[in-house]
Amino acid sequence: MRYVSTRGTAPVLEFEDAVLAGLARDGGLYVPEEWPQFSAVQFRAMRGQPYADIAFQIMQPFVDGAVDDDTLKSICDESYNGFSHDAVAPFQQLDDNLFLLELFHGPTLAFKDFALQVLGRLFDTILARRGERITIVGATSGDTGSAAIEACRGREAIEIFILHPKGRVSDIQRCQMTSVTEANVHNIAIQGTFDDCQDLVKEMFNDEDFRSEQNLSAVNSINWARIMAQVVYYVSSALSLGAPDRSIAYAVPTGNFGDIFAGYVASKIGLPIERLIIGTNTNDILARFMETGAMEARDVVPTLSPAMDIQVSSNFERLLFDLYGRDGRIVSQALTAFRESGTMTAPSDVLDKARELFAAARLDDDGIKAQIAATYEKSGVIVDPHTATGLHAAQICAPDPSVPVVSLSTAHPAKFPDAVETAIGIKPSLPPSLVDLLERPERLDTLPNDLSVVQKFVRERATNK
Ligand SMILES: *Cc1c(COP(=O)(O)O)cnc(C)c1O
Repeated sequence: MRYVSTRGTAPVLEFEDAVLAGLARDGGLYVPEEWPQFSAVQFRAMRGQPYADIAFQIMQPFVDGAVDDDTLKSICDESYNGFSHDAVAPFQQLDDNLFLLELFHGPTLAFKDFALQVLGRLFDTILARRGERITIVGATSGDTGSAAIEACRGREAIEIFILHPKGRVSDIQRCQMTSVTEANVHNIAIQGTFDDCQDLVKEMFNDEDFRSEQNLSAVNSINWARIMAQVVYYVSSALSLGAPDRSIAYAVPTGNFGDIFAGYVASKIGLPIERLIIGTNTNDILARFMETGAMEARDVVPTLSPAMDIQVSSNFERLLFDLYGRDGRIVSQALTAFRESGTMTAPSDVLDKARELFAAARLDDDGIKAQIAATYEKSGVIVDPHTATGLHAAQICAPDPSVPVVSLSTAHPAKFPDAVETAIGIKPSLPPSLVDLLERPERLDTLPNDLSVVQKFVRERATNK
């Protein structure tokens, strides 16, 4: 399986190099040259199998021998062994045809564990074989940092540096990162905002000397392996509800478009998906695009669902690539225009194509609280603010009532206790494994928002010279 860049001019790579590269050299994102196909017979045979076994079968054609079958099988087993629910991704039925898919039973209580647990192990396997080491630098506004740290802690070939904005992540999110004691984990609190952190990371990647000296790698959802691993829970959940003999709709709280793009990939490999419903918060660029065909960036507004406080969803580029007939030149032109002017309008045939599968709805903070309360009153289930945006969109954009709608529950409500408490007056409690989290000793360094200071820190701490 070869991987091509969405902007058409970067070298075509095999899986292993695409995973290590993260961003393509022409600024694009890697996607498979063609979509592997699964037949209805193959899907039916997976029904009822353990999650890790389905994961192996779905990922195998994408990995395509870069990791041998036995190793890939153990990576799948080990990645999902640490989940606290036997089903890995269990359902809660909310209504006749509305299901919550709980994706928060991993070690850091958000869906990002599903992909990062796999990615950490893939990195390890590939690097050990090559005799190489990497330095991971990433910025987080909350959930990605802890999931990446958890996946990379103690791994021989990896040094991981996670930047978070000092004082601007929740206590739980901070402690999930800073209570990790392995020596290869480095938490940096930046005196600045999340955007400052992200800019520092981008500048480190753009500094060619630093990038090659440190062998920098990325763990955000521009990394193809993350999308690949997320396709699995679409398949496993759809099979439980009767696919491939029946079509299923999904509602997805969306920020960087990684999670819902995995749903798109599931449909491309042959899973019957009736509709993919984008849930946004007040930062609703994707919902506006679906209404008008115009992508128009605005300032990011902080909301109760911070993991979705994003204006430019990087993975949307992967969808645009397909919508524009896989012509990297047009994608590149459209995105250059967007970067320069802040707007981009898709031609009507492209918008029509997007609307064949996608729908979208937005929810502001008052709506989020109302949705948390309504779900609790109706079914006794407590959902987090991100999940609430998805549930709202699921109801607004549901197709024909005979089609089951699966709404993805992306985080445990105890990760966002304040928002939940204002909505229903109950503070959700952390699961047993994390009850003492806030009392654990913390390890972090505070640095100014200054590229040279941060680079010096990384150089000194990384053991791979
Ligand atoms: C990251 C995240 C999202 C958004 O997912 P994308 O793949 O960026 O669209 C939604 N909910 C939670 C809880 C998250 O951590």
